[in-house]
Amino acid sequence: MVVVVKKDHDETQFENLKNWLKSLGVKIHTSEGESSLVLGLVGDTSAVDIDLIRSLDIVEDVKRIQEPYKNANRKFHPQDSIIDVNGVKFGGGTFNIIAGPCSVESEEQVVSIAEQVKKSGATMLRGGAFKPRTSPYSFQGLGANGIEYLLKAKEATGLPIVSEIMEFSQLPLFDDVDLIQVGARNMQNFELLKELGRTRKPILLKRGLANTIQELLMSVEYIMAGGNENVILCERGIRTFETATRNTLDISAIPVLKKQTHLPIVIDPSHACGISAYVKPLAMAATAAGADGLMIEVHNDPQHALCDGAQSLTPQVFDDVAKCCFAIRPYAYKA
Ligand code: PEP
Ligand code: MN
Repeated sequence: MVVVVKKDHDETQFENLKNWLKSLGVKIHTSEGESSLVLGLVGDTSAVDIDLIRSLDIVEDVKRIQEPYKNANRKFHPQDSIIDVNGVKFGGGTFNIIAGPCSVESEEQVVSIAEQVKKSGATMLRGGAFKPRTSPYSFQGLGANGIEYLLKAKEATGLPIVSEIMEFSQLPLFDDVDLIQVGARNMQNFELLKELGRTRKPILLKRGLANTIQELLMSVEYIMAGGNENVILCERGIRTFETATRNTLDISAIPVLKKQTHLPIVIDPSHACGISAYVKPLAMAATAAGADGLMIEVHNDPQHALCDGAQSLTPQVFDDVAKCCFAIRPYAYKA
């Protein structure tokens, strides 16, 4: 971090600033220019509040040279991390498709979808048991029963499962859930992230609707700072001024994240566009752009789905999407 101090600064304030920075454990290199004084802070500056420094009277400008996330930073971990989700490996050149309904609706529904998506090459099953719905009057998910039906589908097909946790008290229900999803709306639920950091369960962290890539990385840092390094990131569309789609898929997040972090990146084209007809081109684009995996909503009867029917693919359409994505995988962008 570099702090530019005004030349006509107050000496006491300057000394206070230096002492405070030293107390945070950073070393200071001072160089004097024509019109300003430049402090180079050396060491771990992740605990230094850049906005606080910027607000000081004597400070002209301040810039971070190093990113404020350490554990997730590729600079300190150049190799791709490979996250093992009960035998399914994400990252390091692998490519997986997670598929399944938005919400678990019954045992028959989820078992039958699991069998069909497995035939198409899906390596994991998704299904929401606790649903974060915009309206309190919408279907909220089957809760504990939903997890139970997912486990039945896992038993029937051997596919590891992923489901969303809404609050930490639900964790005991997730004992046999292979990958715990933190949804977009909870990306900055820092208490939940800290609690999940104390576990060693693999976590799928979705990017918030209106969060920057850096904020996503700071959130994943909360989990990793607690000692849990089993994390996979998920871009699922962000809110923009565009209304033709539910959200806007940020394809550029793939190469940007590949550069900044060693963690695997999964793309969810279903929530990104909200319309089933657009899922295939987005899934293919994400695959070509180097995503480590996809998560796609599949429903046996989308028209009657209790949640997100408009963006859900039938198993037949999913089969075609999966084939096309697997076909372009060898040509995918590599960071
Ligand atoms: C989901 O995957 O079911 C979901 C609710 O996604 P998001 O948190 O991205 O909206
Ligand atoms: Mn959904």
